Amino acid sequence: MERKDIASLKFEELIQEMEVLGEKAYRGKQVYAWLHEKGADSFEEMTNLSKALREKLSSEYEIVRMETVERQISKKDPTEKFLFELSDGNQIESVLMRYRYGNSVCISSQAGCRMGCRFCASTIDGLNRNLTASEMLRQVYQIQRITGERVSNIVVMGTGEPLDNYDNFVRFIHMISDEHGLHISQRNITASTCGIVPNMRRLAKEGLQITLALSLHGSNQEKRRRLMPVANKYSLEDVMEACDYYFLKTGRRVTFEYSLLSDVNDSNSDIKELTELLKGRNCHINLIPVNPVKERDFKKPDSKKAVEFENKLEKNGINVTIRRERGSDIDGACGQLRRRYAVSKREN
Ligand code: SAH
Repeated sequence: MERKDIASLKFEELIQEMEVLGEKAYRGKQVYAWLHEKGADSFEEMTNLSKALREKLSSEYEIVRMETVERQISKKDPTEKFLFELSDGNQIESVLMRYRYGNSVCISSQAGCRMGCRFCASTIDGLNRNLTASEMLRQVYQIQRITGERVSNIVVMGTGEPLDNYDNFVRFIHMISDEHGLHISQRNITASTCGIVPNMRRLAKEGLQITLALSLHGSNQEKRRRLMPVANKYSLEDVMEACDYYFLKTGRRVTFEYSLLSDVNDSNSDIKELTELLKGRNCHINLIPVNPVKERDFKKPDSKKAVEFENKLEKNGINVTIRRERGSDIDGACGQLRRRYAVSKREN
């Protein structure tokens, strides 16, 4: 019989399961704390439980483990990148970024991605599978264990499209912010989507307080469609309406992400169109000079041009920042560490 993935059970679910096993509720609380506060990856560690209970648990449940394949530490800034291997051999990457306000971890939500954005390395080989809630959580726990440092912020901006793995993603948000676990404030969590409209609207109604980031990248429907195949399915107009709806329902200001691609979306007419699109909206736009990906042809504009782009938008009354580059010496761009491994495996 297949054992259940215990670390994907929410607090109330675990308590219920323990009751079915004939255990008192406080035992469930203890197990949840081991799994989600201390990040335990074996039942043996749970030393305040009887041996009999630990054995019972390990016959019914498994704690899904992850191997650390590689840890890269940047020499340029306080950033580290991790490559993890899941129990079925899939590999995923996560990034730790240290800031003055605390440590932020960027997690992956899928092994691979099927969204096909033209400038992104994570999607080149398509989607292998969705990650479970416990696999998303474990990225954070494992980084805390390896570094001995506490994580206070999460960005769901690694490989994968969180709204293409909706149920597991929402479960992850509930669990990482649960007071019985790491208790990370939902206000310290940002999730980025390429714009899957029905699920953006669903998310708006979940009663969560996370920040939604929308990958915009094009200032009009046609430009966006050329860069992001998902725009064939959901028009820019519908995406913007879904963003407004998210703000209306949650009161959380939406962030727009805009990868600056030299000679593709960095002209004065892009500035004009972006201004028209965003003016009057309570929002923020984050410019990301594109991380060149070997398999793709895009280049980043020189830094002078990027700053000009920022200044012009700002002058037009748009709330804008340029994302500071992090970890550029350590397979910086999204999906590149994972990809280097996938390619070298195939070549061997
Ligand atoms: N699937 C989610 C998360 C993707 S990664 C989404 O589409 O939003 C987070 C951000 O990085 C997205 O805005 C994505 O479009 C952007 N991105 C991907 N590859 C990039 C690259 N090579 N350079 C700059 N930004 C990139």
